[in-house]
Amino acid sequence: MNNAELVKRDLSVVWHPCTKMKDHEWLPMIPIRRAEGIWLEDYDGRRYLDAVSSWWVNLFGHAHPYINAAVQQQAQTLEHVMLAGFTHQAVVELSERLVRLTPAGLERCFYADNGSAAVEVALKMSFHYWRNNGRAGKTKFITLENSYHGETLGALAVGNVQLYKDTYAPLLMQTISVPSPDCFYRQPGESCASYSERMFQPMREALERHAEEVCAVIVEPLVQCAGGMRMYDPVYLKLLRAACDEFGVHLIADEIAVGFGRTGTLFACEQAAVSPDFLCLSKGLTGGYLPLSVVLTGDNIYQAFYDDYGSLRAFLHSHSYTGNALACSAALATLDLFEQNDTLAANRSLAAAMAAATADLGDHPQVAEVRQTGMILAIEMVKNKLERTPYPWQERRGLRVYEHGLANGMLLRPLGNVVYFMPPYIIEPDQIAMMADVARQGIDKAVAD
Ligand code: PMP
Repeated sequence: MNNAELVKRDLSVVWHPCTKMKDHEWLPMIPIRRAEGIWLEDYDGRRYLDAVSSWWVNLFGHAHPYINAAVQQQAQTLEHVMLAGFTHQAVVELSERLVRLTPAGLERCFYADNGSAAVEVALKMSFHYWRNNGRAGKTKFITLENSYHGETLGALAVGNVQLYKDTYAPLLMQTISVPSPDCFYRQPGESCASYSERMFQPMREALERHAEEVCAVIVEPLVQCAGGMRMYDPVYLKLLRAACDEFGVHLIADEIAVGFGRTGTLFACEQAAVSPDFLCLSKGLTGGYLPLSVVLTGDNIYQAFYDDYGSLRAFLHSHSYTGNALACSAALATLDLFEQNDTLAANRSLAAAMAAATADLGDHPQVAEVRQTGMILAIEMVKNKLERTPYPWQERRGLRVYEHGLANGMLLRPLGNVVYFMPPYIIEPDQIAMMADVARQGIDKAVAD
């Protein structure tokens, strides 16, 4: 088997996610034969450094011997059992550990099998909670501009990246969207903290005006990832938590992308010392091995559904693969690796190395900003640095960086004009230097005409 053979077969039967399939008339599809550590290897023996953790899921590298062993062991004993009326050791242990590790007050774990499904669960639970408490008039959600929460209709409705959403607008529930605290738009000389604080005003006004009809506010804590790795200050989350309490509205923290150490702390909410009413986790939860997601919530929410059969107050949501045992075993092994290696401390030096390796890019004439939160670093290409005018999306500048990356052994997958690194935590300093070099050359190429 070589690349060409498998690609030919692929293109006759597979429809790829988030892909303009016609691009593959000229853009190479990369068939991966095997992966190990930070490297992906194709059928022609070429290797690619996975600088984006395969869509932000991989934490400790591919084919990790410890996670492999845990999944293999689990497969020998129990691969899956339905989670209604049945349970198993892996899901119980995982729930106990997640309750211990997540911010205070999150005491119950409800599982699903992907990030979007977790968002759907949180939205439905919040709405249903209010209904069970005699507040059926609460039917709406407040969201931030430029946010992303997934692709299913409910998750798409509470997101705000127009590229993914506009086409389906007639199918989506109405939401209340307020400006983002995204620090890219701060005034020259203004700190990120003061901008994020200032941008809380419209959120406060929306809460004041709509509290009676609003179930919850949903946010991606600290980094709006799919929206171009746009970042904001923890002060916003602090103010939001206080205002949600004041106005009787839930706070849903979607840490599907930022959870498990990406922002420097295990969970981004910790940096604001807040506990959400619902915490959505997925992606890194299984170390990038298997699809699994979870919504954690507090006992007050749980009790609103705890009643006799006849009251019809129960949460009847389900997915066939809820709490899959193989996925739970991968998640348990992933949590072990965090403990065994003091990953968060080690990541602080890696984050500093990423900053140092890209520091010069801040002066690049076509780079508006190099920004970083923990292990997420983003470089924003612009047409005009002073005015921060973006390149028109039709020019597909990011795609040129992607192509340059592939030609040079690197998987970078820019979001529009934003080149970013979100590598697995096993990345080494010389690989960080290489990542920055390939990005720098790719950016030079992408802005050359
Ligand atoms: N929320 C956020 C913040 C995400 O980044 C994503 C995925 N990129 C999702 C939800 C959706 O997760 P999934 O792709 O597993 O449905």
